[in-house]
Amino acid sequence: MDINKLVDSLFCNQCVSIDILKGNIQCEYSYCECKANSNFASLLDMFANLCYLVDGSNFKDFNSELNFIDPREIRRHTMEINQTWNNHISEKTYSSNEYKYISSQSLYIIKEDLKTQKNNNSLLLRVVFWIRTLDNYFSILLDYIDNEIINESHFPTKRGVLLLRLKSKVADYVFNIRKEVPHTDPNRLKLRYFLNNLHLSKKVSADNYIKHRYLDFGTSKSFKNNDIEDLKIGFLSGDFTVDDYDWCIEESSNTSKLFYFNGINNKNEYCEIITKKVKELLESNPHFIILPELFTPVDLQEKIQQEIDDYYFRKTMKDEPVNLLMVFPGSFHSWDHNNTYIFNVSRVINSSGELVEMIYKQNQFIIKKDENHTGILESFKKHDGYEKISFTNKDITIFDTSLGRIAILICIDFIIDEIAEVLEDRLVDIIFVMAMTPKPDSGKFKRRFQELSEKNKAVVIIGNNGSKAVKNVINLPGINKPYTTNSFSEVKSISEIF
Ligand SMILES: [Zn+2]
Repeated sequence: MDINKLVDSLFCNQCVSIDILKGNIQCEYSYCECKANSNFASLLDMFANLCYLVDGSNFKDFNSELNFIDPREIRRHTMEINQTWNNHISEKTYSSNEYKYISSQSLYIIKEDLKTQKNNNSLLLRVVFWIRTLDNYFSILLDYIDNEIINESHFPTKRGVLLLRLKSKVADYVFNIRKEVPHTDPNRLKLRYFLNNLHLSKKVSADNYIKHRYLDFGTSKSFKNNDIEDLKIGFLSGDFTVDDYDWCIEESSNTSKLFYFNGINNKNEYCEIITKKVKELLESNPHFIILPELFTPVDLQEKIQQEIDDYYFRKTMKDEPVNLLMVFPGSFHSWDHNNTYIFNVSRVINSSGELVEMIYKQNQFIIKKDENHTGILESFKKHDGYEKISFTNKDITIFDTSLGRIAILICIDFIIDEIAEVLEDRLVDIIFVMAMTPKPDSGKFKRRFQELSEKNKAVVIIGNNGSKAVKNVINLPGINKPYTTNSFSEVKSISEIF
């Protein structure tokens, strides 16, 4: 296979796969003239194409080559590439908005440079080093964000979504200031570990619709390392038993029943307690507040929202600083407006009391049938009980913020494989889970947060309902044991949990 043809295919937007060392090319159409298909909308689009075709098997081969190559060769490649690119960019500067376009000249100089390579092995090295040089160049996008020139950190391309790596402030604090050692992801031979600024995420997720939203916390909340010490999480958690709910149980089949909760017993009194407790939490000026699953009927969530609104108003009137960024007010079963479906839903609120996003649980809880069930659970002696909710809302919203990427989930969604893949692939840094489980710090939950700690250096924060032993969980990356307590209500800063 001649080098020119391989290079043309690396810039072909129809190409399915290339094995650079073996010289195999698979194009979408067998008659593809790869030369003609290098139409890219932007420099990012072209970069995504290279990442798409190089990541995987080629990148593994690249790492294999590195083990046997003279280090001076590596230096030669990177120096030559940097020189070529810097010369080019000094002549043709991309100004702040132009990363959305591509100059044909840029495409030309990269292609021509690659075509000077004498054999497949050196072409492989050369193209990976080109990817890294371009990735380094794209650090300008982070500067644009810092200087508020742009407010987007994900860029759709033909090959998938390119994500700008936001700084994960909590992870940086844990590793740079507290000097903890990150866990190693055994799947290391991936382009994502080689690049600093951009990551090409997979084009599709089978089960979910993924939205990225840039959430501006304001310049006063840009979070330096020292600020992270004082990043405070407010928890208000529960240990509800089955007797605390107003149940609805319906026949479904010979082997199963459906259930949902109409409400909470002694609701008026309960709402007063919870509202009062939220007020108390606010007095400690936390950054986040999390309440657990099946803890707050929607009208109580709205009441909490009103409390936040009042709090924000009081604080700003007195010119006092408000740390609050987001409130996850717990979830509950709720009928939709047409009384057609029930959702397990949480209304996420921002610091000034506005509704930011509705979070829907997307998977079903099951009560296993058991002859020993007593009380209300007697209905499930011979029948499994299925949570009667709709899973039709499959949105996963990822908030791109100055703290890193944030995702919010309800209970078992956290341990569902497809959702974990999304969290991993979309570089989520902080995950809040409103849970109701006897074991939020062990078993499946623990396995999942350890995995996300390895892969994303992710922080997992769980507010739990349904266990007397463990109510609040914070799992920091690189640390083997999660922080757990059984406090009904508390505010914890990151520095306090070491
Ligand atoms: Zn082609």
